[in-house]
Amino acid sequence: MSPRTLIRNARVLTCDGDPHERPADGDVLLDGDRIAHVSRGRLDLTELSASSTRVVDVHGATVLPGLGDAHTHISWPLDFVFDHNGVAAAPPHRHALDVAAVVRTFVESGYTLAIGAGVLQPQDDVLARDAIDAGLIPGPRIVPSGLLITSPGNLGDGAPTALTAANAKELREIVARQCDAGVRACKLFISGDGIVPDFPSEDVYMDDEMLTAAVEEADRHGAFITVHARGSVAVAMAARTGVRIIHHACFLDDTALRELEARRDDLWVCPGLHYLYAMVSGHADPWGMTPEKIDASGYRGELAASIDGLRQLHAAGIRIVAGGDFGHQWTHHGTYAAELQRYVELVGLTPTEAILSATRHMGPLIGADIGQVRPGYLADLLVVDGDPTEDITVLQSPERRRAVLRNGSFAYVNPEVYP
Ligand SMILES: [Zn+2]
Repeated sequence: MSPRTLIRNARVLTCDGDPHERPADGDVLLDGDRIAHVSRGRLDLTELSASSTRVVDVHGATVLPGLGDAHTHISWPLDFVFDHNGVAAAPPHRHALDVAAVVRTFVESGYTLAIGAGVLQPQDDVLARDAIDAGLIPGPRIVPSGLLITSPGNLGDGAPTALTAANAKELREIVARQCDAGVRACKLFISGDGIVPDFPSEDVYMDDEMLTAAVEEADRHGAFITVHARGSVAVAMAARTGVRIIHHACFLDDTALRELEARRDDLWVCPGLHYLYAMVSGHADPWGMTPEKIDASGYRGELAASIDGLRQLHAAGIRIVAGGDFGHQWTHHGTYAAELQRYVELVGLTPTEAILSATRHMGPLIGADIGQVRPGYLADLLVVDGDPTEDITVLQSPERRRAVLRNGSFAYVNPEVYP
């Protein structure tokens, strides 16, 4: 019989999809790596063979699904400051330890899922996933990305951290090679990014033929395509060609919205809103992102457009998944849940809806039974003091975090709470 754990005296937030759900008194029984039972009130212990069940009393703490971030860069070390090429050239053994520290930070922050959005050394995500799954280091479930993929003359072309495809055939080969190496989320640049002045956000790279080929090839390998797309034309192209995650989607027009609506069931938008907010709010100023540079980037307008666009997406039932480029010094690793606060404060989502973007929506995206506290689902759970549906910032507070479970095992236990 597999080991059983009873999480007792919890306030359970199941994340079943109700946008107004509040935590309710309950117990959660885990059997091996899965959730076996979720009760209202106390579970009757006489039904359990007590000797083989470990009982953990959480004293009224909230138990919710572990959180997920759909736009992660675990290659960016904890002390990262823009030096992509320096990290790419670092000795791999030294760099691997930096990556281990980052993935530990993810799980200690309540994140049990990280979807890669581009690495700096080709195998970073794949190696980290394998080391975590083998139990060598603590970390979240990882959907690995590879090096970024761009096209000639465009953002990233010529950098040691990107691969370049000139046409559909070359792109198909790159995607196939990445998938063979274990990548499951291939990331393509299909638009510019105002922060790099030569590459405005509205620029469009690649074309329908290339994207269609990439999607087909990834699908053949059980993988999917994600894109960096800031402008509306790039967003519309990604939607109609079968891309699974559209990152940023800052500018939307009617065409883009229509294309997104048509793909409502198998496409997710990952905004990276806190990153934009932090840049525009001057948080990056100490690292050289002066107000003049922010003006030149167009990010002030992009933030306003993003907020407006996210409201439209939400109203149209297009699923937003939380995520967003954390790992700069002004959006430090470990502060990932600040993204959810922005959805509440800037977009107007209920705190529960913001939490759903980091939990329930992640399950169908990666095709796994995660993101809900529900019998049969994998026991990836977060235990926090306080009610995040009342105050979303509860999720950002390390001292409120009691424990994180992954696959039914404790991946993190707060030493201050459980000495
Ligand atoms: Zn990114």
